[in-house]
Amino acid sequence: MPELPEVETIRAYLQAFLPGRQVMAVRHLDPRMVKMGSWDSTMIGAYLPGLVVQSMERRGKYLLIRFPEQAWLAVHLGMSGRLVIANRDQAWKNHTHMVLEIAGGEEMRLIDPRRFGRLGMFKAERPEDFLQLGPEPLGRHFTSSYLSYRLQKRSTAIKSLLLDQALLAGLGNIYVDEALFKARIHPLTPGQDLPVDAVARLVRAIRLVLREGIRHRGTSFSDYVDALGHPGENQDYLSVYGRFGQPCVRCGNPIQRIVIHQRTSHFCQRCQLPLEPWED
Ligand SMILES: [Zn+2]
Repeated sequence: MPELPEVETIRAYLQAFLPGRQVMAVRHLDPRMVKMGSWDSTMIGAYLPGLVVQSMERRGKYLLIRFPEQAWLAVHLGMSGRLVIANRDQAWKNHTHMVLEIAGGEEMRLIDPRRFGRLGMFKAERPEDFLQLGPEPLGRHFTSSYLSYRLQKRSTAIKSLLLDQALLAGLGNIYVDEALFKARIHPLTPGQDLPVDAVARLVRAIRLVLREGIRHRGTSFSDYVDALGHPGENQDYLSVYGRFGQPCVRCGNPIQRIVIHQRTSHFCQRCQLPLEPWED
């Protein structure tokens, strides 16, 4: 599933391509993909032609195409979605669920074999007005004090808490596992049990793994490709995710795999020790 670094890689390319370009037509918009907001596919298809893209933004794992008069087309890629730019004379691939014809002979295509992706059109001043998301992990509002505050009285495993998009926007299974390894925190640790120094390490680790992910243009295991159709390279730099049984890069112990709330978690049993109970 595309997480923040993958979505940001797509955003950066589309930001270089789309702003200032006019939408000529909306084709092949599958009504079943319109799962957000109050506009249906007919309204979206009628509204967009003739409009010029103002900017390409991102919030959490959402791609946001900004149009004049505070109109936003929001796209979430779900499990297997791709948003690619292609020349109009290239044939549509299977599972193409939306095509925006752009002035100049190109198209932006949403391809999603598993259809877990979703899109919607909104009129709002800011994305915060229609997306209920926690802070951006690379933004200034994500701090140790914010995270400590949100972990208070939470007995849920830290692994699951970090996947909650209302607590923190943009993380998924891969980057949470990587961040917990870097911060040397066991994924089952209850949120409320993390001492202040561990929370600070975790904040730094989250920022670090996301920046590395963006630098390597995202992690590709199966589906993810960038807006040009190229896979990312971050899978070659992962410490734990997808490395079950392989030696830990830090201590050499085999990487373990457990399921936490139906999500597979990778970690090192030696580097990420459970916290000792406090002694009175
Ligand atoms: Zn280790």
